[in-house]
Amino acid sequence: MYIENQPVDLPILREKKISLHVKREDLIHPLISGNKFRKLKYNLEEAQKKGCQTLITFGGAFSNHIAATAYACNQVGMAAIGIIRGEELALQWQQNPTLLLAHQHGMRFKFVSRAMYREKKSTEFELQLRNEFGDFYALPEGGTNVLAIKGCEEMITQKDLTYDIVCTAVGTGGTLVGISNAISHSQSVLGFAALKGDFLKEDIRNFAPKGKWELQTDYHFGGYAKVSETLVTFINDFKEQTKIPLDPIYTGKLVFGILDLIQKDYFKPNTKILAIHTGGLQGITGMNTRLKKKNLPLIRQ
Ligand SMILES: *Cc1c(COP(=O)(O)O)cnc(C)c1O
Repeated sequence: MYIENQPVDLPILREKKISLHVKREDLIHPLISGNKFRKLKYNLEEAQKKGCQTLITFGGAFSNHIAATAYACNQVGMAAIGIIRGEELALQWQQNPTLLLAHQHGMRFKFVSRAMYREKKSTEFELQLRNEFGDFYALPEGGTNVLAIKGCEEMITQKDLTYDIVCTAVGTGGTLVGISNAISHSQSVLGFAALKGDFLKEDIRNFAPKGKWELQTDYHFGGYAKVSETLVTFINDFKEQTKIPLDPIYTGKLVFGILDLIQKDYFKPNTKILAIHTGGLQGITGMNTRLKKKNLPLIRQ
């Protein structure tokens, strides 16, 4: 799958002499878009090789990974079970567009408390799942594991080796690790954390090659899936100016951060930046339901 990188033209880029291109991984597919497609590719192959008929994975109410996994498993004829954070959703998941979509593609859910969700990596929890569902292929939260990283490496093509810096949104860090494995030594990755907390750096350090990446932690807008009026307005303005839609959880925060850093002269003049559009647009509908309740402006679709 190859989609030409899209150049962005904005006054601030001309003023600061920075070139910015966007890798439109969001165009891969409306549901299995961006990095979730990359992450699932080798995992589904592996599950099938192992003869597993069921896949179990984990996520929250807005998870692009849950939506993508449901669709992809359905396509290859595997059963998918989503372990979803938040017991309260058990009674109202039909009102959640992401979960409704996943359900329509055949995913079954098990809703668990936040306390139990935190234990998802424990042996007891896995045993409990095996008792309940039998044999399955387990895919971690966010879809990140070694095979997922291998898939993410394929985002970077020969032509992308001419950029100085590759920027990506960071959830678990799997995408950032994949990119840092794939780029050349004269390039680096700049990650923008979509959630609060310093634990990410530790996680990434264990996997990513040294000296090739950095993490920006000032652009999470209060934490995972937290948004503000400033962010919504930015997403709407950016779409109007460039025709590129951004999602509120990852790529909106990423591009906001890149442009803010450009404004603050963080990058040297003549720097060539490639921003990865990791997808996530399916989450806009769900976020708009929440924005409406709070009387905040909506993300235009
Ligand atoms: C999941 C996701 C990310 C985060 O990817 P990680 O590999 O977990 O860091 C970024 N952007 C979008 C749109 C996503 O859905």
